[in-house]
Amino acid sequence: MTDKQPIIIMNENSNRTIGRDAQRNNIMAARIVADTVKTTLGPKGMDKMLVDSTGNITVTNDGVTILEEMEIEHPAAKMIVEIAKTQDKEVGDGTTTAVMLAGKLLENAEKLLDQKIHPTVITKGYRLAAEKAQEIIKNIAIDVANSDEILKELVFTSLASKNASAKKEKFAQIIVKAVKQIQENGKTDLDNIKIEKVKGEGIEDTELIEGIVLDKERVSVDMPSKIENAKIALIDAALEIKGPETETKISVSSPEQLQSFLEREEKLLKAMVEKIKQSGANVVFCQKGIDDVAQYYLAKEGIYAARRVAKSDMEKLSKATGGKIISNLNEISQEQLGYSKIVEEVKNNDGMTYVKGCKNPKALTILIRGGTEHVISEIERALKDGMGVVASVLKDKKILAGAGAIEVELAKRLRDYSQSLGGREQLAVEEFASALEFIPVTLAENAGLDPIDILTELRARHQKGETNAGLNLLTGKIEDSITAGIIEPIRIKQQAIDSATEVAVMILRIDDVIAAGNSKQKNIPMSEME
Ligand code: ADP
Ligand code: MG
Repeated sequence: MTDKQPIIIMNENSNRTIGRDAQRNNIMAARIVADTVKTTLGPKGMDKMLVDSTGNITVTNDGVTILEEMEIEHPAAKMIVEIAKTQDKEVGDGTTTAVMLAGKLLENAEKLLDQKIHPTVITKGYRLAAEKAQEIIKNIAIDVANSDEILKELVFTSLASKNASAKKEKFAQIIVKAVKQIQENGKTDLDNIKIEKVKGEGIEDTELIEGIVLDKERVSVDMPSKIENAKIALIDAALEIKGPETETKISVSSPEQLQSFLEREEKLLKAMVEKIKQSGANVVFCQKGIDDVAQYYLAKEGIYAARRVAKSDMEKLSKATGGKIISNLNEISQEQLGYSKIVEEVKNNDGMTYVKGCKNPKALTILIRGGTEHVISEIERALKDGMGVVASVLKDKKILAGAGAIEVELAKRLRDYSQSLGGREQLAVEEFASALEFIPVTLAENAGLDPIDILTELRARHQKGETNAGLNLLTGKIEDSITAGIIEPIRIKQQAIDSATEVAVMILRIDDVIAAGNSKQKNIPMSEME
């Protein structure tokens, strides 16, 4: 008989955790992730230095960057990292906030689990709270006209936590101008802002170029290095007879035959340049190669040319200069040319081509300068956050009070709301409210202030009806965040609450983790739990 035989359904190396153990393990992992970024929150947050396996160093306080560099492997922790990525993609800023909120929601849920409250009750309460929070946010958001003043304040708030804030006036001006300029039919595609980096000089020398900067030099030193009133041909065909891909074999039986072949080739190339010349172009950007002979004739005609320009740059050049990308040289004509005041070669570390002074460019370049690569990269991340914030408000035209004000107000109203709920969901809604307060608490803590004092005062001020009272860390006082100009796009908080709730709920619903034998999932040692 076989009834004593054990039944094996899984590989013997696979690993299974069930019930409370699975929950605890997942919650712990998620909390550790959230705790990691906590100290970076806000204007007084600290930076982190991350060193990857090849020794590359990143110094940053950008939530999503930290988590991406950490190469996290625990499955639940990875889900938290996803929150940061979504936040970054959807809004461009608020990644630390979103991750911290998720971590705190899970931490608070654990308290409820310890009180034997069933996960489905907690998740239901969290969902109710999130819905209510979104409703409240919509109600208290302030409509704004997209004045430069408001947009700049939004960028100031976004930059406040980054070292770029040392030159915030300058960066805000660049960001606002750039994002507004590339708007097309009410849409803003931030891909149309090209970022180029140049090592050397200080971050204050960062500039906005009304056009495109290419990391390409002209193909021949016999060409002029600067063209004024540039008429630009954007060509995506090769200015060569045979492409590098197609190796053409010719057999020549006499020197005369070779001579005539070369002459014919030269003629064809000369004719190509002639067509370009006829169109009136004095600059050529070619996506493919340019033959030496063609280079020679182009130079002879005083035309500036660069080759192997990336496709993405060709598209940006088209948007910036108004030129069409031409595939067939027979179709080249004056109407298809782009225009810019100046095209010139500039020697930074490497040679670059500046195409600047474009009329109403729909693509442009921010040229970041800075002493070291690390400084430049962190400035780039800060500028991208700021750009995301501006694009977000240009779209929604609604803002909220920052510096913890919105979180405290939400917590207050959610607690009122929880009173209207019967049953144990009420407790979950209350925990949701206190998770939100973790933001101002951390802002205070990171600034070395007493978080309990601050939270007590913030709550009291909100009870008195000061909806926008926040902790201004520039003055160290509790004041109206809107008046103080600490404002944030509505989308930052909407997205953070959405994704934090979703992921917290998802993690709470898991009571069985089955990992295949070769999975790298590791249980967190008990010593890391307090
Ligand atoms: P995130 O990745 O979530 O954007 P940050 O480190 O950029 O994290 O910090 C954002 C938080 O800092 C927001 O809650 C914002 O309101 C707050 N903040 C910005 N400026 C100030 C200020 N002057 N005083 C207090 N808080 C501020
Ligand atoms: Mg930020």
